[in-house]
Amino acid sequence: MSVNVLELCWTEIQKLNKEKTVMIIGIAPIEQHGRHLPVGVDVYETEHWIKKSIIKLQERFSDYTFLTMPIIPFGNANMKGFVGNIHISQKLLYNLVLEALSSIAEWDIKNIIVISGHAEPKHLIAIEEACECINKKFNDIAFSPMGAIFSGKVKCEEKDTLMDKLKKYSNDFHAGWVETSCMLSINKDIVNENYKFQPDIEIQRKEMIFPQKVAEKIKGYGHIGYPKEGTKELGDALNEDAAEKIKTAVEAFIIRENYKQYEHHELYKIPFLRVRIWS
Ligand SMILES: [Zn+2]
Repeated sequence: MSVNVLELCWTEIQKLNKEKTVMIIGIAPIEQHGRHLPVGVDVYETEHWIKKSIIKLQERFSDYTFLTMPIIPFGNANMKGFVGNIHISQKLLYNLVLEALSSIAEWDIKNIIVISGHAEPKHLIAIEEACECINKKFNDIAFSPMGAIFSGKVKCEEKDTLMDKLKKYSNDFHAGWVETSCMLSINKDIVNENYKFQPDIEIQRKEMIFPQKVAEKIKGYGHIGYPKEGTKELGDALNEDAAEKIKTAVEAFIIRENYKQYEHHELYKIPFLRVRIWS
């Protein structure tokens, strides 16, 4: 069963079999996504991937209750030079997730999953650090696999067409063909047709951690990558791939087998991407 927790009263929450309840929280920022995509892309992707992965998880965990809630539309989204961003600091994001998870931990829920469609390392690492803090206090109840997923640590069978495209048009980091495709698949009515005319903007992976460099290259546009390469079919495959990877990682966490490999982004150990190293 899957239910939005907003629809339950506290006695119903109390009666849930806590060993077989999974709470899934989505958190992603409102952020500019170029001249062709709405500012809610990451929120829509997060919501869509959660829905799709719950359907998959229910096949194996048919006697579990999957609790959802509205996506928290905040995150670390520091794209300078554009309107349409709501950016919160990494420290505030960390505290927001930490305090939200602490409250849910008091409900006695043993599986709290945090999902985000926002691939920014500082965003994902702050969430991972909050989970780590909760896990020290409450004994491994929180899990955030998106850093591992965006780092390529979670493997599942990928379609050849997708692999070819990913190789040919790599470094498609923001509002490029990947996100344009995902949105064409989720809701094509909110994708501006002008995606077919956006220029290619290329940035290397190692340049991505320097906001000033990124801002210079995307000035006046806002995307990083190749929007005109997007198609609905690719979006179907990308969304399916994301949901499958979320399912694989969350499944490992629910049964507590080999899930530690999915706990961190590949850049987790870099001090200046962390929150708590300074505190
Ligand atoms: Zn995005």
